[in-house]
This record gives sequence, structure tokens and C-alpha cells, in this order.
Amino acid sequence: MTKNVLVLPGDGIGPEIIAEAVKVLECVSQQDSLDIAVDQALLGGVAIDATGSPLPEETMVKAKNADAILLGAVGGPKWEALDMSIRPERGLLGIRSELELFGNLRPAMLYPQLADASSLKPELVSGLDILIVRELTGGIYFGQPRGVRTLDNGERQGYNTYVYSESEIIRIGRLAFELAMKRDKRVCSVDKANVLEVTELWREIMDDLAKEYPEVELSHMYVDNAAMQLIRAPKQFDVMVTGNMFGDILSDAAAMLTGSIGMLPSASLNKAGKGMYEPCHGSAPDIAGQGIANPLATILSVAMMLRYSFDQGKTADRIEAAVSAVLDQGYRTADIYTDGMQRASTSEMGNAVLKVLQA
Ligand code: NAD
Repeated sequence: MTKNVLVLPGDGIGPEIIAEAVKVLECVSQQDSLDIAVDQALLGGVAIDATGSPLPEETMVKAKNADAILLGAVGGPKWEALDMSIRPERGLLGIRSELELFGNLRPAMLYPQLADASSLKPELVSGLDILIVRELTGGIYFGQPRGVRTLDNGERQGYNTYVYSESEIIRIGRLAFELAMKRDKRVCSVDKANVLEVTELWREIMDDLAKEYPEVELSHMYVDNAAMQLIRAPKQFDVMVTGNMFGDILSDAAAMLTGSIGMLPSASLNKAGKGMYEPCHGSAPDIAGQGIANPLATILSVAMMLRYSFDQGKTADRIEAAVSAVLDQGYRTADIYTDGMQRASTSEMGNAVLKVLQA
């Protein structure tokens, strides 16, 4: 049956990097007879300009009908003065919550060829391969009640609610254990169970789930220690699973271990395995239109899509190997360039990946 992929190029460098990723998707789907149909729609600032809404109805309908979504990035200075409720980022949040994309997968991989790009010593990060599984639709970012109130004494007080129900913890925990089964079979659950009751429950549920996965080794770590360990000895981790806020912070820290944000893909999945795939970076307005953005994070997002939504692990492996091969050949976009390497534009990098795939 035909698999429908909805492509949302978005703003800034979005259309430039998406063009390269779509070339790769079309190439492998033809080579491996994957029967994939690609459609496009507007999201973010471009959608605001065309329709007045960051998430037009037509886009939402297409997103619901698609088997997977590939997103470039949204946002930029042009739309920053708009009211919060109609900013480009609202479109993204709208899709995430409408499709219940609760599980955010952020791999932090460091290709050995790029070990010098990290701010840590090469021996600490070379070959790094962590998968951070972040809960994306609950926790303190969504908990009610929330707001700013005025107390009896006239002082203002801001408040938010950190809340997770059992079912929310079970579904993200299960996702992490399932993913660990396909990797090194180790899960580190990150919480603050010494202070927060909500994460005490989180820990209890992770322990219960572990009984269903006897092959997986579960450990627990307080979030402050996890932040420290990520900087001290990041290669000790395989899968890390955590709530929305801790995951937000830890996944950005882990991303920086790899030196360039232009290399990191991500996936956001729902219960049915439907996913939205996107690079971890934003729309990079500072370099948009110059043809110098790194398309590899978006190309690697295509690999994640094939692996997690379409169960085409072998094709995904081929794309990842092709990316590694172009790095071996010395191709570097500006963000990962070091002396002596071959400077590549966005399309030259995409074409280099295609050439390896077609060889
Ligand atoms: P950013 O990730 O867009 O850029 C940060 C820095 O990294 C910039 O110097 C940029 O040039 C560089 N960079 C990012 N991607 C790159 C790539 N592929 N190749 C080479 N260099 C790259 O973050 P920002 O500047 O904080 O945000 C810019 C806009 O993107 C904002 O409007 C923000 O809201 C939006 N944003 C969108 C998403 C998303 O769509 N998922 C995520 C983050 C930020």
C-alpha cells in the first residue's frame, strides 16, 4: 500500500534543507521499491503569509491523513512581533498536540569524523550514540492550574503544575524500553524523585515496566547528576527517558556534545507509530537563502522516518552509511568545516549523499 509522506518545508533554511532530504527520500524509495507518495503543505510563517494562520485547515487535514510528516523548520524575525497565538511555532505545537505526538526521540550521535567539532575532548565523545526519549505532550509545560496570581498581600506569584498520570508515564516508558530492545538494551530513567512526588511515581512505574523487559537493564538517575554525567562521561548512556522539561534541557545539552546542531535528526511519535520527523535545529534565519545550510540533519530525519514509521531499517541504515561516507570523503558544510576539508554548499552536500546511494 502506498505510504503518504507530508512534507512541510516551513521557513528560513527549511525549504533548502528539505529539497535535499526529499531528493534522498525519492532516490531510496525508487531503489528499494518503497511505494512512497510525497505531498507538500504550508506550515509556520509561510502559512501565515499565505492564509493568516500558522496551521491552515488544509495542512491539518493532510497531516492527519499522512502516514508520516517531514518538517524543515518554522519561525523567523519577520513573524516575531505577532501575537503569541498566531506565531509560526504555534503551528508546530498544534500539529504535535492534535496528532498526540507524545514521544520525542532525539539521538545524539557523533560521527567519529567530526569528533573535533565537539566542545569536549575527542576521546570523550568519539562514537557517541545516545537516544534521549522525551515525553512531549505532558508534564509541567501543560499542567493545570498555571498562571500568575496576586496574593492577599499584593505580591504577584507565578505558578505551574508538574503533573503526570500513570498512563502517560507507562506509554513513554514502554516506548523507551522498546527502543532499547533495538539498541544496547540499557535504559536510564531521569527524574528528581528525591524532591518531586510526581517523579517518585515515575520511578515506581519505570521499575514496574522493567519487569516486562528482563533483557533491558534499567537504571535511575537524578536530573542534576544526569546533566553532570552527560558532560563528564556521555558514552555511558544508551537510552535516556525523561519528562518534558528535563528532556528539553538534557537533549539540548546532549546535542551540543556533538558539535553541530546541523547533524541531528529527531522524531516525534504517537501511539500508532505515526511520526513527525525534523532536524533538531530551527530555521536559521541568519543563513537562510545563502545555500550554505547543512542538510544532513534533515536527511538523517528521513532515515528515522523509514526506520520508525515504515519499518524499513535496512534503507535507513543505507542513508546513515551514505552520510558517514560523504564525511569520510571530506565534504563539510560551513557549520562543520575544518581546515583541509572540502567545503560544500547545501545542494553539493545533498548531491554527495545521492551519489553514494547511487554508486
Ligand atoms: P537555530 O537552530 O535556527 O539557529 C542557531 C544557530 O545554528 C544559527 O547560527 C544557525 O545559523 C545555526 N544553524 C542551525 N541550523 C543549521 C544548519 N542546518 N546548518 C548550519 N547552521 C545551522 O535557532 P535560533 O536561531 O534560536 O532560532 C531561529 C528561528 O527558528 C526562531 O524563529 C525559532 O523560534 C525557530 N525554531 C524553530 C524550530 C522548529 O521549527 N522546530 C526549532 C528551534 C527554533
